[in-house]
Amino acid sequence: KARNPNEPEFLQAAEEILHSLGPVVEAEGGDKFIPVTKALFEPERVIQFRVAWYDDAGELQVNRGFRVQMNSAIGPYKGGLRLHPTVNLSILKFLATEQVLKNAVTTLPLGGGKGGSDFNPKGRSEAEVRRFCQSFMGALARHIGPDTDVPAGDIGVSGREIGYLFGAYKRVTNRFEGILTGKGPTFGGSLIRPESTGYGVVMFVREMLKVKGDTLEGKVVVISGSGNVAQYATQKVNALGGKVIALSDSKGVLVDEEGITDKKLAEVMDIKNVRRTSLKAFTEKFSTAKWTDFSEQYTDEDEKSNPLWEIKCDVALPCATQNELNADGARALVDNGVSIVAEGANMPSTPGAIEVLRSAKVAFAPGKASNAGGVATSGLEMSQNSQRMAWSAEKVEEELDGIMTRIHADCVETAKAYDRAGDYVFGANVTGFLKVAEAMLAQGLA
Ligand code: NDP
Repeated sequence: KARNPNEPEFLQAAEEILHSLGPVVEAEGGDKFIPVTKALFEPERVIQFRVAWYDDAGELQVNRGFRVQMNSAIGPYKGGLRLHPTVNLSILKFLATEQVLKNAVTTLPLGGGKGGSDFNPKGRSEAEVRRFCQSFMGALARHIGPDTDVPAGDIGVSGREIGYLFGAYKRVTNRFEGILTGKGPTFGGSLIRPESTGYGVVMFVREMLKVKGDTLEGKVVVISGSGNVAQYATQKVNALGGKVIALSDSKGVLVDEEGITDKKLAEVMDIKNVRRTSLKAFTEKFSTAKWTDFSEQYTDEDEKSNPLWEIKCDVALPCATQNELNADGARALVDNGVSIVAEGANMPSTPGAIEVLRSAKVAFAPGKASNAGGVATSGLEMSQNSQRMAWSAEKVEEELDGIMTRIHADCVETAKAYDRAGDYVFGANVTGFLKVAEAMLAQGLA
């Protein structure tokens, strides 16, 4: 804590992981893994740079760019770029730390990293976003490479931004190579990559339900957010016979008791991906839906709970941002009989929320297991780029399904092996840690 003052999100993620590692360190007699736990939380490299660009009025704008290269023990650094005004080093270090273990859990050879900028794409013109991306990549290009560091998208970075970043990299380096994932399908992107995080979360939930001898058929689902992860989670829930009755964004909550069918989801996608405005616009087209404005942002343990979590459901999928589900929110879900909470976002549940869910014996999947489908498919995109091949959508989805099923099984088995059956947080942390730790020790890195 003394070494990382003012980094609450990073400390929260590190503490949660350390909490799980106690029994593992003990089982090995302590000496073996204590040095690894010391090295694991120190990034291998942090790059910070100025991003200067001109807005449409001809004014110079200056943002801060980052890349946290956290751990390369099992492969090149891999993890998204986030563009959001809240981006700072604490948030990126927490995300990079989570990414290290998540990438290990996928069983693919991927190290962990994360980056981004405090640039706010909201309200910016297409030309401004393009100029920002070109300036950002001008500074980042020298630090990444197909065998060094391969960034992807995250909040505020979708196919549009990845395209501009890729073009800028090529211009600076004169090399056409797989340095980003989430690219467009005409220039090396993998089919199913946009769908993969949301699909993967729901595949993971399907496996959790299987353990209980149940399926998604007829289940009522509440999802927070309405961006990339939330959209494709909704699509997969629909495909497996469930009903999504609520979505949200940073402005409020949308409830449609009749369900967000695929037809209605197309309207959500148009509002968020094309018109880039608030989900409130949904009610103009569908009178079955009700909209409630947020009076504040709900991303803190101490604040009031997001009203979204007061909606009665069987399955809740937080898919927006960190710390959006607090203890009060978890209590409301439990009181209404929720049976599964699976994280689509990174660390959306506060420690208080996780404790409430644990005490109530609600099956809880942490993001580093349940949202690993995105980075796993990015790994498949890297394989396709190396082979100079493009796989069919069916093949990619089949691989993704196999990976999510395996991640679930590994978490279950690891938890059982340490007498913690049913504890997915423990299972994911320990599965990821053991793989990274063995590689670090073998390479003399800890
Ligand atoms: P998007 O930018 O596509 O969507 C984010 C959604 O969350 C939007 O609906 C946004 O609302 C909402 N949101 C963002 N910040 C806040 C906030 N402070 N309060 C309330 N709502 C908020 O991002 P993604 O869907 O890609 O990512 C969502 C989460 O999933 C993140 O935690 C990300 O790290 C994680 N993730 C993403 C992966 C991917 O492949 N994309 C992979 C693994 C994890 P609005 O539209 O109003 O801004």
